[in-house]
Amino acid sequence: MAIVDAKEMLLEATAGKYAVGAFNVSNLIQLEAVVAAAITKRAPVIIQTSVSPSRFLNPKVIGAIYRTIAAEAPIPICLHLDHSDEVPYCKTCADAGYTNIMIDASKHDFEENIRQTREVVDYCHGLGGISVEGELGTVSGTEDQVKVSEDEARLCDPSQAVEFVQRTGIDLFAPAIGTAHGVYKTKNPKLDFDRLQAIIEMLNGKGLNTPIVIHGGSGLADDAVKKLVSLGGAKFNVSTDLKHRIIDTTYDYISAHRGEYNTGKIDKAVKQAVMDRIHYYIDLLGCAGKA
Ligand SMILES: [Zn+2]
Repeated sequence: MAIVDAKEMLLEATAGKYAVGAFNVSNLIQLEAVVAAAITKRAPVIIQTSVSPSRFLNPKVIGAIYRTIAAEAPIPICLHLDHSDEVPYCKTCADAGYTNIMIDASKHDFEENIRQTREVVDYCHGLGGISVEGELGTVSGTEDQVKVSEDEARLCDPSQAVEFVQRTGIDLFAPAIGTAHGVYKTKNPKLDFDRLQAIIEMLNGKGLNTPIVIHGGSGLADDAVKKLVSLGGAKFNVSTDLKHRIIDTTYDYISAHRGEYNTGKIDKAVKQAVMDRIHYYIDLLGCAGKA
């Protein structure tokens, strides 16, 4: 039985100085690829969907597929809803069997962010076995329906982090520290490592043992990823990189086999491409062999 919620998995990661990969999927092939790759590496793993694919596939269907696959897997696996900015949809997915819910109320002011996040925490903790992620500051770029321009992006204020975590009761904390969704416009994005360190020290100083989530994990240099993990990043989100691999692999396969008309072979090529990339991230994050 490998159905777990993320908090315990990520507390272990924090203590062990590694991070767990949280990989976005939008269909069954991708989901199977993530799980197969994690099993090969004996790594704990988080499957996540953003809101659009979740709605498109039906959260109950995703929940049922997840439970079937996770129950048979020899590794712990979570199912996470990423960046839902609507409280009712967070509750819908909690009811459907997601084990982690992210309420992203970061576009609102501090008090409203706390109010909405707290509502989701109360609901999910009431159901039991569901952890909740909240965001403070805003991560720039586009992630599904959440679009934040560089001008609007605000980094997390460390002095507000403790109050946010305490008053919301969240299990996982996503502070904006300069990473971005989508493709980075520069080779060396400005990551605020000092800010991340300050936030973690302030939380620990108040006795708050809340795992930290790093958003915008695609396209960072390996050294930057390792530093984020060594400072205490415990959940590492990857979406854009996988989308590029999937679409490029599909295009290349069809271009090379134009007359074939065998969708199963396209699926196989995509599954292998996703698995290869997941293997890379698992090694980079140091979570191989931790399951
Ligand atoms: Zn994100």
